[in-house]
Amino acid sequence: MEVKYSYLEEQFRDHAAIFADLDKLIQSGDYTLGKPVVEFEEKFAALIGTKYALGVNSGTDALFLSLKALNVGPGDEVITSPNTFIATVGAIVAAGAKPVYVDVTEEFTINPALIEKAITKNTKVIMPVHYAGHPADMKEIVAIAEKHGLKVIEDSCQAIGASVDGRWVGTFGVTGAFSLHPLKNLNVWGDGGMIVTSSEEVRDRLILLRNHGLLNRDEVGIYGYNSRLDSLQAVVGNHLIKDIHVITENRIKWANKLDAALHGYKGCITIPERRTHKRYVFHLYMMRVERRDELLAHLLKNGVDAKVHYPIPMHLQPAAAGQGYKKGDFPVTESQSASLITLPVHQHLSSEQVDYMIEVVKGFYS
Ligand SMILES: *Cc1c(COP(=O)(O)O)cnc(C)c1O
Repeated sequence: MEVKYSYLEEQFRDHAAIFADLDKLIQSGDYTLGKPVVEFEEKFAALIGTKYALGVNSGTDALFLSLKALNVGPGDEVITSPNTFIATVGAIVAAGAKPVYVDVTEEFTINPALIEKAITKNTKVIMPVHYAGHPADMKEIVAIAEKHGLKVIEDSCQAIGASVDGRWVGTFGVTGAFSLHPLKNLNVWGDGGMIVTSSEEVRDRLILLRNHGLLNRDEVGIYGYNSRLDSLQAVVGNHLIKDIHVITENRIKWANKLDAALHGYKGCITIPERRTHKRYVFHLYMMRVERRDELLAHLLKNGVDAKVHYPIPMHLQPAAAGQGYKKGDFPVTESQSASLITLPVHQHLSSEQVDYMIEVVKGFYS
């Protein structure tokens, strides 16, 4: 049996309805910031429960423009976790600021108990990452930010539909950044991103920043960027957003099944505790295992497309050489990067495929 990681072919096998809408768009010529974008933004804001959502050209830009909207730049520090996808850190560096790392908990998200020690007079923003679709401890993080006069930007790129105490991630910070990349739970046939906010002032700045700072056709209010979500992609988004609850529920269903079958297996597998006040959306299904690299090879040999997210944490990347970090600085992150494995958990898996994965994993440790 084969268990593939990618499901895009299946997801878009029946694309006739999308093609019909694309056909209409092409006839209309409404290609930039067109009607489909506005419609998608409205649906997205309603889904997340924010006043505004703004389409941009990637999740990376959603983070970068959020930082620019808050005037973060050279001399400023942004606190985040070192176990993220490079884009989190890339956006901070692109804004001219310095990434400051704080180690994570066993849930793979920033450890609130360690944040205050990392705050300096230069700290401007805390940027928690809802890694793997696990919501960070937002109540604690927001309380720390308020106490120190800092802003929160949520990297929600992996976490559409995740929540804490019934409140969607992306709504705790000044902004929340989402990715619509093909690998993300809600995707649009290419790159795309969304910024959510309930601040009118921030929204107004973001509208300028994503479109050259243009106040109108002829006047430039501030210097901005070209970072719009394309109408073509918004058309796809408008179709897929209807399915997001089903997509999420299916992922949760498979994750629950894997949890029940594998947690603690022969003392070799550790799955993070699932807290009842959080909704995990399992963009990635990750568990800590003994003999990780051997298990990975065993899974691949048996047709299970397992992965490692990620073997090298951000502070140990070659690009981080000048940032003053060294091995041993973030022991939890480092030990996770050596022991975590990711199993496919997508919405197009069958029950048989999930059973097969469980068998292959158990077979390895028996
Ligand atoms: C995917 C991702 C991003 C960036 O999104 P893109 O749309 O690929 O630019 C940022 N942060 C995290 C944690 C991500 O997983």
